[in-house]
Amino acid sequence: MTEIPLFLKSLISVSGLSGYEAPVADLIKERWRPFVDEISLSRVGSLHGLKRGTGKSPRPSLMVATHMDAIGMQVSQLVDGFLHIAPVGGIDVRVLPGAEVTVHASRSNEELPGVVVLPPARFLPESAGDKILIEHLLVDTGLLPREVTKKVCIGDLVSFANPPLELAGDVLSGHTVDNRASIAALTICLEELQNKPHVWDLWAVATVQEETTYLGAYTSSFALRPQMAIVVDGTFAKGPGANGWQTSAMGKGVGLCIGPNMHPFLHKKLKELADRLEIPWFLDVSLGDSGTDAFAVQVTAEGIPTALVEFPIRYMHTPVESVSLKDIQRVGRLLAEFVTSLEEDFFETIVWE
Ligand SMILES: [Zn+2]
Repeated sequence: MTEIPLFLKSLISVSGLSGYEAPVADLIKERWRPFVDEISLSRVGSLHGLKRGTGKSPRPSLMVATHMDAIGMQVSQLVDGFLHIAPVGGIDVRVLPGAEVTVHASRSNEELPGVVVLPPARFLPESAGDKILIEHLLVDTGLLPREVTKKVCIGDLVSFANPPLELAGDVLSGHTVDNRASIAALTICLEELQNKPHVWDLWAVATVQEETTYLGAYTSSFALRPQMAIVVDGTFAKGPGANGWQTSAMGKGVGLCIGPNMHPFLHKKLKELADRLEIPWFLDVSLGDSGTDAFAVQVTAEGIPTALVEFPIRYMHTPVESVSLKDIQRVGRLLAEFVTSLEEDFFETIVWE
């Protein structure tokens, strides 16, 4: 069995900012290779692993899609040896000052350690007030200005560098838990399926660019044309100051999303299955586009019945996103059981209700 904390930590420690996923794709590919019959990269860099079912050909297929890209930063300007940065994806700028980062210096092909800094408040324009704006943030690498210009250029990537940390209570905290924790869950699913025959084909997919454009979700759905899809992603966990209806308790089970982005029949089937397996679950209401790959998958081609399975993350889009490892284990198990539960004619039984 995969040691989830260990594997998740290794996934987090490899870079793969949105649009630049190759390093993490390599790692996932090696991990999935023994569990699937075929594995390849799509034209835009998403990873497609095919685990063939036992049904007669042509077999229906289920795609389980997890995005592998991460939020981060990109160098926008070099000023006196300091780097100005722009966000890659929806980064929470308020927590950036003090962050440890890696500057992926393209001129020298080096990974430079750096820290994100904010000039003292008294030197910032009065109009800045108490707000932290990305325009005021800088990355300090400690290098002299001429060394910086020799090594770094505009557009170079800057990723978080803080190592993941195991907190008490089975919680892992670190950057990029969104969405490498889903990759870990899908890996658990693939592992479980080694001893469980299934009739349908399974496409295990790690998509690119969820945080920025949905590129991977659109293109993989179109290329693979699965009969149905399940997307796995994080949702907002309850915590201090975050207790509204849009938040869910961490460590208490699997999130089953409901709303116009989800196929009601698939949602119902997942609920029934979770009940049968005594996997705790909670409802997560999404009012429209869920803001995940599930949207892109649902609207591809003639429309693909899609469900969204979630796990709560605390401190979303910060360098200390936190997740309950128990929830990840549960998501993996639910996915595997769903795949094995699919009978040959399941697709014909689907109704929109
Ligand atoms: Zn995500």
